[in-house]
Amino acid sequence: MAILENISLAPYSAFGTGGTCRYFWQPESIEEIATELPRFAGTPFYLLGAGSNSLVSDTPWPGMVMQFGNLATCEETESGFICGAGVLNSDLAQRARDRSQQGAAWMYRLPGQLGATIRMNARCYGGEISQCIDQVKTVTPSGEIKTYEVTNSTRTNVFRGYKDTIFMTNQEIVVQCSIRLQPGPLEPIVSLMEKIEKDRVSKGHFDFPTCGCVFKNEYAPEVSVSSGLLLELAGSKSLHKPRARVSEKHANFIFNHNGASSEEILELSIEMRERVWSEFGVWLAYEMELLGDFPAALLKQFQEQRPPAYRHARLAEARARFQSQGGRI
Ligand SMILES: Cc1cc2nc3c(=O)[nH]c(=O)nc-3n(C[C@H](O)[C@H](O)[C@H](O)COP(=O)(O)OP(=O)(O)OC[C@H]3O[C@@H](n4cnc5c(N)ncnc54)[C@H](O)[C@@H]3O)c2cc1C
Repeated sequence: MAILENISLAPYSAFGTGGTCRYFWQPESIEEIATELPRFAGTPFYLLGAGSNSLVSDTPWPGMVMQFGNLATCEETESGFICGAGVLNSDLAQRARDRSQQGAAWMYRLPGQLGATIRMNARCYGGEISQCIDQVKTVTPSGEIKTYEVTNSTRTNVFRGYKDTIFMTNQEIVVQCSIRLQPGPLEPIVSLMEKIEKDRVSKGHFDFPTCGCVFKNEYAPEVSVSSGLLLELAGSKSLHKPRARVSEKHANFIFNHNGASSEEILELSIEMRERVWSEFGVWLAYEMELLGDFPAALLKQFQEQRPPAYRHARLAEARARFQSQGGRI
């Protein structure tokens, strides 16, 4: 087991921000995690995939960061793959395409690793990770290896709904998964992947360091408008800090365009949420996660909850606009 010390986390975060951590552990196997993890009981600890849904604190983290880059084996099975938590979503999509298997193309160019993607039940382009998983292996904080069989009747126990899974609350580390795909003709797979790539590039997803959407979509019937459009109509695209700004193409994206700090990015996101609140009475929920220690005042604002105070007339206008644009969240 190799543990590195005083490692900068910025290269491991999609925003390119973040300070150092005291200890940095990239386990080589599930057994290594299960055996060694209990030794760190009491040590401040967090998990890091590819950092593409997270904001890593600027201040040095006194504890351990476990990163899954070395758990990247991808073994072919008859019906799909058995993958380590560190396999990149986009790599899986390409491997599935190479075997002409359907069900993973939606993950093409989706930043991040499978472990975190399962943890948050990521979705896009008509796909959701819950749909193609038939087993998840985890390690508990006490070092027990657990297996979740995911069948049609147990799926919702594990994947509880929109961006919500059991792993977001049970502290278990996702270490491996079994992916179930179907054989199919190559052409529609390739064409979907091309369409996805074109769409993400045209929306500027890869123009600057970013964690993608800062806020989840709000599906309450009174809202039913993408958070991106709410943010746009509330004027968020004009918001900026000296080194961070809201994307001109997608109002739910923050770009680190010039060496921003994580604190600047967090402050900007808080201003975005306030704009939507004053315009629509909708309190957006964060999709972006904070890893590490942030100043108490900022953390308090990040964690604040407000019950809805819908401004129905403004929301009706937004819904009409949303429908006229195609209207799928
Ligand atoms: C340009 C861009 C576009 C995006 N588009 C989409 C999109 O269309 N749809 C979508 O759903 N998401 C999207 N995202 C967000 C991101 O791609 C997903 O959330 C992805 O699943 C994050 O994976 P990660 O490894 O980078 O997670 P990280 O940011 O590293 O981690 C996310 C969370 O999971 C925890 N975690 C990490 N690894 C594990 C593990 N093995 N076990 C348990 N917990 C773990 C971390 O502690 C953290 O809380 C986008 C991001 C970017 C940058």
